[in-house]
Amino acid sequence: MHFTGTIWRPPYEAGSLLLQVTAGCTHHACKFCTLYEDLPFRFRASPAGEIEADLRELQMLLNDPAAMLSSRLQGMSRPKAPRRVFLTGANPFALSVERLENIAGLIKRYLPQCESIGCFARVTDVCGKTDRELERLSALGFDGLSIGVETGDEEALRFMNKGYTAQEIVTQARRLDGAGISYSFMYLAGISGAGRGEAGAAASAEVFNQTHPKIIGSSMLTLYPGSELYSEVQCGRWAEEGELEKLVEVRTLVERLEIPVYFATLGASNAVLVEGELPLDRPLLLQRLDGACSHLSEEELRRYRVNLRHL
Ligand code: SF4
Repeated sequence: MHFTGTIWRPPYEAGSLLLQVTAGCTHHACKFCTLYEDLPFRFRASPAGEIEADLRELQMLLNDPAAMLSSRLQGMSRPKAPRRVFLTGANPFALSVERLENIAGLIKRYLPQCESIGCFARVTDVCGKTDRELERLSALGFDGLSIGVETGDEEALRFMNKGYTAQEIVTQARRLDGAGISYSFMYLAGISGAGRGEAGAAASAEVFNQTHPKIIGSSMLTLYPGSELYSEVQCGRWAEEGELEKLVEVRTLVERLEIPVYFATLGASNAVLVEGELPLDRPLLLQRLDGACSHLSEEELRRYRVNLRHL
């Protein structure tokens, strides 16, 4: 299988087959981002032959009698044909519809049991496709996009160079709803900056409440020296939220969300892990976040943050 650089996928895609169809990010301009910096290019679409070779290799593995025997001898279950494929790269959904159709066709040919195809997507990737094209992609199995919207705070979106507005999040999410393509949002606590965490969460809840994400996964901003944001901080143009402020921000978001959604603090960037169905588990989530705010000190949480070598 071809894999280039660090491969990122949401925790909830752990059971999906990872298929490289792109590497890197078409945008590559968010000030806080240091992902994909290990690549010698910004963005690369995999040639069709490379994707097909990976699928062929997987098909052979699934049907290889020697591989089956080896699993059996090791007491492992026979490798199962994946029912979901997750396309890797920061935003494979930026590829043209024709290219995505070809990829879906290859997946269907080599993995006929596959029921759905997911990937990371940017809001702007949806803008570039017509309603009819989105419906075509939905019919081909594209579903469950993971969109790193980060926030609904207009000021933060602009400052961080996200490349879209809060209104565009709502508009494009509604277009996905219309096409029958489900999606999850990734939120980035801390993106609004010192003193603006609660306001950023409130603005985000207002935006998210107009959409229908399946999951809202919250990460916490971690400042790395290689990022443009780090230079902004050094120049005094931006100040980081404290760790307790970030927790209060997450609490505000949980409190203000009115839509039915699965909420989770996802990944290593969170020192405090909470998850549950909203609105049902809201009291439990708030209790846990309140408990963390009163029992953990800024210093303890800061220690966790500075020891985080990578996300
Ligand atoms: S869109 Fe995602 S991967 Fe690309 S620069 Fe922004 S945060 Fe990084």
